Amino acid sequence: MLLINGRILDYREGEVHLSEDGLFLQSGFIRERGSVRSLKKRHLGEKILDARGMIILPGFINAHTHFYSGLARGFPLRSPYPADFKQILKKLWWKLDRALDEESIYYSAVVSLMESIRQGTTVFIDHHSSPHSILGSLDILEEAASLFGVRACFCYEVSGRDGQNVARDGIKENLRYLGKCNPSIQSQFKSLFGIHASFTVSDRLLRECGYAGNSLRTGFHLHLCEDKLDLEDAQNRGYRSALQRLESFGILNPATILAHGVHLGEGDIALLKKSGGVLIHNPQSNMNNAVGMAPVETYLAKGIRVGLGSDGWTDGMLFELRQAILTAKHLSHNPDTGFNSSLSLLWGNNPAIAERIWGNPMGKLEKGAFADMVLLKYQPPTPLNNQSAASHLVYGLSQCQPEVVIAGGRIIYQGGEFPGIDTEKLLEKARKAAHKIWNKI
Ligand SMILES: [Zn+2]
Repeated sequence: MLLINGRILDYREGEVHLSEDGLFLQSGFIRERGSVRSLKKRHLGEKILDARGMIILPGFINAHTHFYSGLARGFPLRSPYPADFKQILKKLWWKLDRALDEESIYYSAVVSLMESIRQGTTVFIDHHSSPHSILGSLDILEEAASLFGVRACFCYEVSGRDGQNVARDGIKENLRYLGKCNPSIQSQFKSLFGIHASFTVSDRLLRECGYAGNSLRTGFHLHLCEDKLDLEDAQNRGYRSALQRLESFGILNPATILAHGVHLGEGDIALLKKSGGVLIHNPQSNMNNAVGMAPVETYLAKGIRVGLGSDGWTDGMLFELRQAILTAKHLSHNPDTGFNSSLSLLWGNNPAIAERIWGNPMGKLEKGAFADMVLLKYQPPTPLNNQSAASHLVYGLSQCQPEVVIAGGRIIYQGGEFPGIDTEKLLEKARKAAHKIWNKI
């Protein structure tokens, strides 16, 4: 397929660029990028997608999310409302995930995917929990992602909070799915070894996780110091910090993804840098849970790779980007901070994190990258050029609904529809599944 007449807005070497290039997509990859005239000449008769009046962006990568939260919207929390992070987990998330069965796992994922793809996300790094329906749960998520045709990396969050048997099943599910995933770059689905967070696993369980994950030479995906209770818990167990505790059980390696990192302990930045692991910033979720905010500028300045995730809280990565920028400005009392650094999280670091998992360039519009992209109709009210493009992205395009979303070279969303998918029927089933689990809770 030839994609022509649009304006490509992408990110190279720390800067946003605008170009009139066309793209030639074949077998799921971008095979060529260049002038529209020469592409048309070389590929006579090729199917054409005319993107006139549209901006073409790389498909967004969500570096930390939870598909299982898809049926939480509107869930009636009983009074009194949770007063801290632990209560939010106990009164909402740990009740919701215990109620999930195979059907509701599937429809949670369907709802999350549908809404995220509508906002242009084509790659997901998911962290799953369903303590009463563990074995096979990652296959159910995969089935939902297959329906829509997007790339996803799954894991099951091992935790000791529901007892030993549930924890063992969590380990089994990670190992089963890791063994099943195809290492080829063509493979749509990948996996990591999931753990909930340091504060819900005993030393013994953490040792088992470290041994199991390292036996398959995989990275781990877990929450780190989202709230200060994670740091305090590790210190109460005799460790300097939660990160140091994870390191002592072999959980840190260059492929490990740590979500949040709001309250790191002394020496943690150096330890994280040495390990090569990455942190994922989730500003809207952190604000919603009132847990504080990671000092992202400091981490970046010290050479830590920080990506951007939604933590299952929102669907649009441009919306999350705006929040990251506004939060950085607000907290630092400095309007000249947060803009370029937040852009680097979404457009520089998220692609690098995903590339490590898939082994191929992605989140980029260049030759050899996966053909994942978003087309938005946009009539700029002010001049749009290389100098103004980043500002248009954050303050203009972030307010637009994508017109077309392409994943693996295939149109998966166009004009408000998912070709071949009856979304009304799926939503009807999702509402029934939500009703069922809310009643169960
Ligand atoms: Zn999370």
